[in-house]
Amino acid sequence: MDTQLAIIGGGPAGYTAAFLAADLGMSVTLVDREPHLGGVCLLRGCIPSKALLHVAKAKSEAARLADWGVTFGAANLDLDAMRARKQRVIQTLTAGLKQLSVRRKVRVVRARATFEDSHTLHLEPAGSEPPEDDRLRFEHCILATGSEPAKIPLLDLPTDRVMNSTAALELPEVPESMLVVGGGYIGLEMGTIYAALGSRVSVVEMTGGLLPGVDRNLVKPLYKKLQSDFETIYLNTKVAAMADRNGAIEVVLEGDAKDGPRQFSRVLVAVGRRPNSADLRLEKTRVEVDERGVVVVNPRRRTADPHILAIGDVSGEPMLAHKAAHEGKVAVKALVGQPAEFAPRAIPAVVFTDPEIAWAGLTETEAKAQNRDVDVAQFPWAASGRARAVGRTDGTTKWLIDRASGRVVGCGIVGPGAGELIGEAVVAIEMGAAPRDLANAIHPHPTLSETLSSAADVHLGTATDLYRPKRI
Ligand code: FAD
Repeated sequence: MDTQLAIIGGGPAGYTAAFLAADLGMSVTLVDREPHLGGVCLLRGCIPSKALLHVAKAKSEAARLADWGVTFGAANLDLDAMRARKQRVIQTLTAGLKQLSVRRKVRVVRARATFEDSHTLHLEPAGSEPPEDDRLRFEHCILATGSEPAKIPLLDLPTDRVMNSTAALELPEVPESMLVVGGGYIGLEMGTIYAALGSRVSVVEMTGGLLPGVDRNLVKPLYKKLQSDFETIYLNTKVAAMADRNGAIEVVLEGDAKDGPRQFSRVLVAVGRRPNSADLRLEKTRVEVDERGVVVVNPRRRTADPHILAIGDVSGEPMLAHKAAHEGKVAVKALVGQPAEFAPRAIPAVVFTDPEIAWAGLTETEAKAQNRDVDVAQFPWAASGRARAVGRTDGTTKWLIDRASGRVVGCGIVGPGAGELIGEAVVAIEMGAAPRDLANAIHPHPTLSETLSSAADVHLGTATDLYRPKRI
């Protein structure tokens, strides 16, 4: 088989690149070892987790109605129905991707690809049907092989009671108790799901706070909420030993935790992800990887091999689907000679917990570390009519404004729906907006989006919903 462009990996990076390249007139072959397109994001990441988080959210909203005098009886959980509903979401979306590839005449091959040289892939069967040829010759290749859960040998017990995010999303049961190892976004999202379904969830995090790297004032309201939703949050603590004993996992914790060995029905290990670059036989090409296995690329997504580009998780942090898809577009534009570069001012990140946390551009933590001269303007949601109306005054919206240029360079939001609100911040940062632009743009009332213009007003001294005048 020959192709102009071979793409390895049918996740958000790979299928975006494949579809755009086909639209721009290239002949494209997309190789994935999975039977369905969509990658981790669609099959065992973003989408199934958000489908289950929807259940968690609806359940906790229903419980909150007690405040308004509305109470419901105990929830009845039909896990088979829940799994089937989640699966329908995935099936609909992956079928859509298949249809889009057929319409674009993208050839999709199910196989495990490795390199023979800088122009040839070896295709091994990945399912019951072998590919029609075991060799694919290409003019260009885009690596979009994604990432997989990082493993720690100490935590790698041969029992299904110890799960990674993929196993946890299968919802094998609602365990009586669950320990989440790792206080990053995947662990906290999965913990939120299981806690809402009725498990007693504990989290153990090695560093001094949940969501390491995220601004502390954004994490604070979430930490407070999780302290009531979860059984225990262990900080500055790590797992020293773990054993499968009498139908439970016995865990020994080391650090700030003063408890003795504890038993959990299940353990979810969510300690990060590592790029899928080790098994590709990259040594047969000129592609370079760093010490973490991340494929090294330039801003046009080119690797050290002139015929091979790389996009998505395999090419590094942040390992997020929208960043992967954007890189896919940049790579294809670079291939067809357009002046594209991956040089965003703001990549949004969202933690879909309750409350949600979202940020884009420069964070306060980074600003401090880099000694950047910025103003931080915050608007507390306690002063938002909409936040009051829905009983969620635990939120905050903040802008970071570069003092020299007077432009917004970062935004952080905590509160329900923060993930939807951050889109406006991304546009503002990318367009080089000034706080005046945000304050002068009329936002609809009563919505939480007003907090974005109100935070800009705080900077300007024109916020009327708070008493913080800036004397002229
Ligand atoms: P992937 O989606 O990993 O796709 C890579 C594909 O390559 C896979 O289908 C794999 O089968 C294939 N492949 C690998 N090696 C080979 C080979 N040798 N031959 C053939 N095929 C191969 N991101 C967000 O932006 N928002 C979220 O809310 C979010 N939630 C997440 C929740 C969870 C539980 C997890 C695990 C991840 C989440 N992510 C989220 C991250 C997101 O899934 C990834 O950033 C995204 O999938 C990366 O896309 P990708 O195309 O680079 O790789």
